[in-house]
Amino acid sequence: MSPDRHISSEDTLRVSVLSEALPYIQRFAGRRIVIKYGGAAMVREDLRDAVFRDLALLACVGVQPVVVHGGGPEINQWLEKLAIEPRFQDGLRVTCPDTMDVVEMVLVGRVNKQIVNGLNRVGGRAVGLSGSDGGLVQARTMGDGTLGVVGDVARVDPSVLSPLLASGYIPVISSVAPNADGLAHNINADTVAGELAAALQAEKLILLTDTPGILRDRNAPTSLIRQLSLSEARQLITDGVVEGGMTPKTECCIRALAQGVKAAHIIDGRVAHSLLLEVFTNAGIGTMVVGSPGLLHA
Ligand code: ADP
Ligand code: MG
Repeated sequence: MSPDRHISSEDTLRVSVLSEALPYIQRFAGRRIVIKYGGAAMVREDLRDAVFRDLALLACVGVQPVVVHGGGPEINQWLEKLAIEPRFQDGLRVTCPDTMDVVEMVLVGRVNKQIVNGLNRVGGRAVGLSGSDGGLVQARTMGDGTLGVVGDVARVDPSVLSPLLASGYIPVISSVAPNADGLAHNINADTVAGELAAALQAEKLILLTDTPGILRDRNAPTSLIRQLSLSEARQLITDGVVEGGMTPKTECCIRALAQGVKAAHIIDGRVAHSLLLEVFTNAGIGTMVVGSPGLLHA
């Protein structure tokens, strides 16, 4: 055999890993997976590229990823430049009209396009959307309006996504949506991801964040809860084990599962390729919430 025909141990390893991925690819090909993208995975360049490559790979093997993103740090940077103080209540951003202008410009204009460009650069075919496009998401002002133009999801019409997904495009959706009067609202991206997953009857909802998952003691990374039933997840909110930004995450997992999504996962976006580790391994990573207790890893 000539030297250039030599098959290295790396080659052998790559081929065997690919071959082992076959059952997972077969299981998820043609299925929808909704991913909330945020946290360090959006900020750190190495992690960002790993996420883009994971998403491009999923799309390449026929899985249909749908990306929903927030833009926390970037919004705060622009608010600071404009001398507007960011405020939060129960993990949700208090959004006055001035803040909303910034949220909309940053999320829909800048962060969305950065993600689309990043995905396209690694060979994915991404299309950016906000809640407005094709009437995808309609917002309803949350509570009594004291949080400002902060919305809940009133309704989702995912029909604009079907032709995109069928053609292999990766929809990238920013969590800004108009209410019935066309007034732009800021919606927590976890909440949008959960409702979209339900409307799309997604196989999985995956929330990328900066903790290992749901922790029994939020100061102890080793206290990760690997699997939860719906009722256990509800109990963690009632008991105050889950609070702050983890509350909308846990709630949206519960709502998505109650509406037919098979499994919801809260995973550590600080771990490179955490998405592939979740989809392509039996053990999975992070916290998995399932509709019926005792279900094996989905
Ligand atoms: P993201 O930007 O990904 O939406 P958030 O900051 O909104 O992240 O939410 C995650 C935060 O929730 C964690 O950093 C942590 O401070 C908080 N948190 C509250 N309760 C828990 C818990 N039980 N386990 C893990 N994190 C928790
Ligand atoms: Mg959050």
